[in-house]
Amino acid sequence: MQTHFSPAQRDNPVIRAADAILRKCVHCGFCTATCPTYVLRGDEADSPRGRIYLIKQMYEQGGAPSAATVTHLDRCLGCLSCMTTCPSGVDYHHLIEAARFRIEAEGAGRPLAEQGLRWLLGRLTTHRAGLRWALRLAALFKPLMRLAPSRLRPLLAMAPKKLPDPSSALKPQIFPATGPRRARVALLTGCVQAVMDRAILDATIRLLTRHGVEVVVARGAECCGALPHHLGQEALAKTKAAAAIDGWWGETSEGGGVGLDAVVVNISGCGTVVKDYGHLFAAEGGQRAARAAIIAGLAKDICEFLLGLGLKPSGIEPGLRVAYHSPCSLQHAQRQGQPPRDLLRQAGFEVLEIPEGHLCCGSAGVYNLLQADLAQRLKDRKLAHIAALNPELIASGNLGCMHQLASGTALPVVHSVQLLDWATGGPKPY
Ligand code: SF4
Ligand code: SF4
Repeated sequence: MQTHFSPAQRDNPVIRAADAILRKCVHCGFCTATCPTYVLRGDEADSPRGRIYLIKQMYEQGGAPSAATVTHLDRCLGCLSCMTTCPSGVDYHHLIEAARFRIEAEGAGRPLAEQGLRWLLGRLTTHRAGLRWALRLAALFKPLMRLAPSRLRPLLAMAPKKLPDPSSALKPQIFPATGPRRARVALLTGCVQAVMDRAILDATIRLLTRHGVEVVVARGAECCGALPHHLGQEALAKTKAAAAIDGWWGETSEGGGVGLDAVVVNISGCGTVVKDYGHLFAAEGGQRAARAAIIAGLAKDICEFLLGLGLKPSGIEPGLRVAYHSPCSLQHAQRQGQPPRDLLRQAGFEVLEIPEGHLCCGSAGVYNLLQADLAQRLKDRKLAHIAALNPELIASGNLGCMHQLASGTALPVVHSVQLLDWATGGPKPY
């Protein structure tokens, strides 16, 4: 794609980086066929190629982006299905990331109510106590949901009737390996998952320690910053990421700790951001950038890590039919779609492939709260494909996907680690 930046614009490192990405796009349009929003809307401006053009215009023209540009970029799920398809290696990931940061910093192109909701989501989703309080309040008002402003209804709808008690595993501590220690890892405990579904954290710790892994819950490493990152809230995302990096750094041998073989993440949306910390902090240089790159290099999805370690199944009901929903963050961003399938099969489950598996379920961070209509259509489409497979349960590797699917089906929806924990001696998860 031809770009027309002035020398002064090219002095800006953000524009220089965007320019290098933009120039790789050859307009072929292969990506449009696998873009969920283009599949639903059939509008070029809601396709990857269209959005790339809008981002180019936004940078070339300078100033605040137009409301139309913001609308089309906000409709992007950030699923990165386009990157899996693109034959030219266009780095849409970092292009949309920088565009989101720019839009948020300009503060233009969105109605005030939308801006307020995004601000609130960024704060609530990164603060466990605040989120717990907000979900309790939302549960109280849930019966009156029809009277609430339409923008708030998806938020009220996600509030569970009762929240689980906080897991004691959230406190900084070390879980020793069972038997000889084969590895030592830090585990991201997270914020939304820690509040809404402690069973995943508990299953992960049981599974790892049972396989000879010492698990460290590091002080300060609670929130990775993924959701504010998704919202384009650069400063907040970096503050949270920096705290997580500092927490884990103290456990590495370079940081004076015992040392880590990996930083394990069981929320694939978060794992994608942690694996990219090196890029997020690259421009800052110095110690911060160096530590971020080291932590990013240690980051592994839980299934990616376990596959390398080898699974010790102890026998479960053979052949249970599991529809495996591969989160976009795992299959497109991390390119780790295979390890969960391999592990589930090794554990004795029959893994069913969902047609159109490359298409997002509509969860996408907080997308289902901000773009409720498109998210609902993607969910319905996904669940129709799943129903046709006649599975006994659904498994996935990202809390957001699990809640999105569970809100439209009576089938049990569990995390892959819960099934692997069960298959290797843990409790049945549903
Ligand atoms: S990230 Fe997903 S929604 Fe956004 S342009 Fe790419 S394929 Fe489409
Ligand atoms: S597939 Fe790649 S090169 Fe082709 S239009 Fe899409 S982003 Fe551009």
